Amino acid sequence: SSNGSAAARPLFTVSSPNVAYTDAEIRSKYTYRTTLVDRAEDGKYVAVPKETLYDFKVDRKIPKLGVMLVGLGGNNGSTVTAGIIANRRGLKWDTREGPRAANYYGSVIMGSTMKLGTDAKSGKDVNIPFHDVLPMVHPNDLVIGGWDISKLDLAAAMDRAQVLEPTLKALVRKEMAAIAPLPSIYYPDFIAANQEDRADNLIPGSKASMEHVERIRKDIRDFKAANGLDKVVVQWTANTERFSDLLEGVNDTAENLLKAIEAGHEEVSPSTVFAVACILEKTPFINGSPQNTFVPGAIQLAEQHHAFIGGDDFKSGQTKMKSALVDFLINAGIKLTSIASYNHLGNNDGKNLSSQKQFRSKEISKSNVVDDMVEANNVLYAPGEHPDHTVVIKYMPAVGDNKRALDEYYAEIFMGGHQTISIFNVCEDSLLASPLIIDLVILAEMMTRIQWKASGPAAQGDTDYKGFHSVLSILSYMLKAPLTPPGTPVINSLAKQRAAMTNIFRACVGLEPESDMTLEHKLF
Ligand code: NAD
Repeated sequence: SSNGSAAARPLFTVSSPNVAYTDAEIRSKYTYRTTLVDRAEDGKYVAVPKETLYDFKVDRKIPKLGVMLVGLGGNNGSTVTAGIIANRRGLKWDTREGPRAANYYGSVIMGSTMKLGTDAKSGKDVNIPFHDVLPMVHPNDLVIGGWDISKLDLAAAMDRAQVLEPTLKALVRKEMAAIAPLPSIYYPDFIAANQEDRADNLIPGSKASMEHVERIRKDIRDFKAANGLDKVVVQWTANTERFSDLLEGVNDTAENLLKAIEAGHEEVSPSTVFAVACILEKTPFINGSPQNTFVPGAIQLAEQHHAFIGGDDFKSGQTKMKSALVDFLINAGIKLTSIASYNHLGNNDGKNLSSQKQFRSKEISKSNVVDDMVEANNVLYAPGEHPDHTVVIKYMPAVGDNKRALDEYYAEIFMGGHQTISIFNVCEDSLLASPLIIDLVILAEMMTRIQWKASGPAAQGDTDYKGFHSVLSILSYMLKAPLTPPGTPVINSLAKQRAAMTNIFRACVGLEPESDMTLEHKLF
């Protein structure tokens, strides 16, 4: 096991008067530099550099971590579980293209690097695995469990999913067969009617109740105890639900939401019941599907309990491309005028999305992903002006989990000319989503071990460390419709989302943001 090794032997230490290491903690003093802008009377801007001093504290003890997936028996649930088992055992298997070995490709944490700095002798970049910037859990050490409304064990579930090679399945079959999903809650109105035939593993009751909340809390506690875990993170990778209506007196405040659950109100979804149970259990809960699980009352409840939540909707294929490509186009000064996005897919997700209300949830989460980038460019776009944007999803059983995403980007270039970019993206859906599930778990857990307090004059005698806001917007890179603390901006640009992750973690060890100025190579 890699448990504890990172804490004992970090890949690097920071040598600075602002950074101190103890056995238990890394403490840093960090100067956060921003720019405040005032508009003067003549309409011109005045930009004022601002410095805010923070103390950060990172708990170095890597916990024994469990992850509980809602929808464990689905394509994502079974694929990520098999993938982690294969990695843990260092498996190799044969395919028609030759031998393959387990890896964590597609995980930012496990598969990408960040520049630590410049080599003092050679002047070359020194890059380290992202996983090593802070003492993070290794995915091989995750204990996996969870719930599903379908009772198939995970060996049968991975067969049903039709994602992994038979040779790989044979190697993990025994361990997979030993994992069976816990019964779950099923309120038929929230997912497509075509899902009914797999709902054979149910906790009694077809509307929200406090018994359901308590049952889920107990499942989490039991799982923790049975596996000797320090912490659990829960993630919704179950079917896309329809949106819940936002109703005054029902889900608008924490108090009303709890009352609505008690009263068995029909607008409280299973995913919201899971979220409430996790919040009350102080277990981070992440929503990997597009529906509005986090109604205002759920967000308020999380704030009251200082519990972490994150969402919504894994950003795996089409939208990830979009948030990179649109960032490029608009920042290149090219005026994007329309995006047409067609999808067809043949897995159970596609079957569920063939129902109008569930499709609508996906359409909403896929639609807003360019707004901030458009709004930021007031040279190309007038206030309120938008590129046209259409999203179509069709169920095509034959292509299975190999989702097709066809996108046309149409843009206006110099002197009335046009640029058309067509993308045909074949995304092996669950193989793209699985590493995101891993990253979300590891990041959410890491955030439970970072604390901050104001330092210097701004502290005003306040000496208590605090956590980050309940809504973990640092997870945005992995999510299509990033949830942010109420009243704060949503950032969709993929590059900015990655920079936020990188630079917040660097700040925790007292390092400056990754700067691409490389003045050391540019000056005479
Ligand atoms: P899937 O249909 O194969 O799996 C979903 C599982 O959830 C099923 O096994 C189903 O029985 C179970 N389920 C449904 N309602 C439940 C409940 N109330 N409690 C417990 N289990 C329940 O779908 P998938 O391909 O694994 O995708 C899962 C979710 O992730 C979907 O909502 C999908 O939209 C979302 N998503 C997936 C991707 C991706 O795969 N690339 C990207 C973004 C979002």
